[in-house]
Amino acid sequence: MKIGIVGLGLIGGSLGFDLRQRQHTVVGISRRAETGDLALRQGAVDIAATSLEAIAAAQLVFVCTPIAAVAPAVKQLASFLPASTVITDVGSVKTHIVKAASLHWPNFVGGHPMAGKAEAGLAAAEAGLFDQRPYVITPTVATPPNAISLVEEVARSLGCHLYRCPPETHDRAVAWISHLPVMISAALIQACLSESELDVMQLAQQLASSGFRDTSRVGGGNPELGTMMAQFNQAALLQALQGYRQQLDQIIDQVASQDWPTLQQTLQQSHQTRPQFVDRPPAH
Ligand code: NAP
Repeated sequence: MKIGIVGLGLIGGSLGFDLRQRQHTVVGISRRAETGDLALRQGAVDIAATSLEAIAAAQLVFVCTPIAAVAPAVKQLASFLPASTVITDVGSVKTHIVKAASLHWPNFVGGHPMAGKAEAGLAAAEAGLFDQRPYVITPTVATPPNAISLVEEVARSLGCHLYRCPPETHDRAVAWISHLPVMISAALIQACLSESELDVMQLAQQLASSGFRDTSRVGGGNPELGTMMAQFNQAALLQALQGYRQQLDQIIDQVASQDWPTLQQTLQQSHQTRPQFVDRPPAH
């Protein structure tokens, strides 16, 4: 199949590697010509261009730009693509994108491959990034079933575990397990930086090991992506942040009042329930 990828960064480039390995012909569109040149050299695309018109013959187009640029790209694509072309995206937020993009293109299917890294850009792209990872498809009642099937078929061929839900459900779920952790993790780094004694700070930096590495990882990721998660999923993220603040306040009270039995109960419950999030077998 001829597949277009708009935006050759971490996700677009990684998709390019995998789709080419599966014998698809990949036409990649970048803003900057040097990104396209690198994609050709790395083997992420068969054809590179800076003009969207180069993907006029694609049957399927993945829009892999930053969140804010997805709907504008779909609007531009809508001016020349044949109506049969299916457009999908990989954005980390779905309600805003699906609403705006579907207005421009009825054959649009919202999608979110849930794989990533702290680094951004094509240089960080890698083959196999999506293998055994969740891929959420977020159709609406108006999304054509054959368009959903095509995107699911390609996602399944990448080794992904498929999930299907309304965009709003996706956004509330990822607010808890993806967007909230980014903000908490960033706040953790900021809080450590507030240490006023230089020797304490330096020792803390020298001692920071696997626990700090795990808990600070997502807060030290791509700042542009984190900001857009907050901007485009504001309501769900705020609700999650408030839920988190409530829990943190309770823990502060338990520590301040030396209520060790209640603190232990809190930690015991967390110990027991964490596997429900991190050790669940995939649904499909
Ligand atoms: P990235 O590495 O920064 O790549 C984005 C690419 O889009 C850049 O290479 C850039 O191309 C191009 N681009 C930037 N601004 C653009 C604009 N205004 N118009 C057109 N193209 C533009 O970002 P990413 O991590 O791959 O993220 C891309 C999408 O994947 C986002 O929607 C994000 O929500 C989603 N996503 C990210 C992750 C993750 O963990 N990173 C996971 C799942 C989904 P040039 O080099 O040509 O400027």
